[in-house]
Amino acid sequence: MRLDMLLAQAASRLADAGSPSARLDAEVLLCHVLGVDRTWLYTWGDRNADTSEQARFEALVAARAAGHPVAYLTGEREFWGLPLFTGPSTLIPRPDTETLVEAALARMPARAGRLLDLGTGTGAVALALASERSGWRAVGIDLNPEAVSLAIRNAERLGIDNVDFRVGDWFAALEESDFDVIVANPPYLADDDPHLDRGDVRFEPRGALVARERGLSDLYHLVDASRERLASGGWLLLEHGADQGGAVREALHASGYQDVTCERDLSGHERVSLGRWTKA
Ligand code: GLN
Repeated sequence: MRLDMLLAQAASRLADAGSPSARLDAEVLLCHVLGVDRTWLYTWGDRNADTSEQARFEALVAARAAGHPVAYLTGEREFWGLPLFTGPSTLIPRPDTETLVEAALARMPARAGRLLDLGTGTGAVALALASERSGWRAVGIDLNPEAVSLAIRNAERLGIDNVDFRVGDWFAALEESDFDVIVANPPYLADDDPHLDRGDVRFEPRGALVARERGLSDLYHLVDASRERLASGGWLLLEHGADQGGAVREALHASGYQDVTCERDLSGHERVSLGRWTKA
């Protein structure tokens, strides 16, 4: 069948199945099967798919119609302009998290420094920052060994060699301190957040999404424990939910951080809170 016909059919099937991005999903899945980019697809829509391509595409469309995230079906997602391998052991990198990257970069002088990314998942944040700051050394930690091997594969693919990925429970296995910047996108949803039953989130690992105390327990732990790991004058930057900024900043103040502020995401929601630690 002609590629443009296949696409139109798939887009309408995915729209019926409730995908908010049906046409784009269909294009990305077809590109994945054909090994081409979307520009190619726009030019060559009048070509035909062979039977095997069509069968593989239809299987992916069926899985997408059943709700599976496109990023798990293709095994890839772009973040900060970097193509990253993704998989069901980690969250799919989100555009909101680019707010965390921007806020951190603004506090990372070009010459050199030491960065720690906790709960690194695919390695998205650490790799984005390391790619922008070749003079920095970064450590990325995740509890899940599968996430860590994914992050290592991402670093290798991108040729980024200034990040050291390791398995660990937050700071537990970490010997170093004196980081100039610590970043984290920890789990921060409450266990009854209705968001958990919708869209891609249903397929993502709960452990990467949900935290105790209405989603605040890991954020609180990171505020508290980062003080021992920051260099004097170092920054802690935490992603959080749109309604958690007040609580996180209160914790930062109570723990003695200074210059406490917040950054908003592209939708205008409070998304990242940060503060600076100065040793007495
Ligand atoms: N921002 C994510 C969401 O709303 C939650 C990610 C997280 O808990 N770190 O799905």
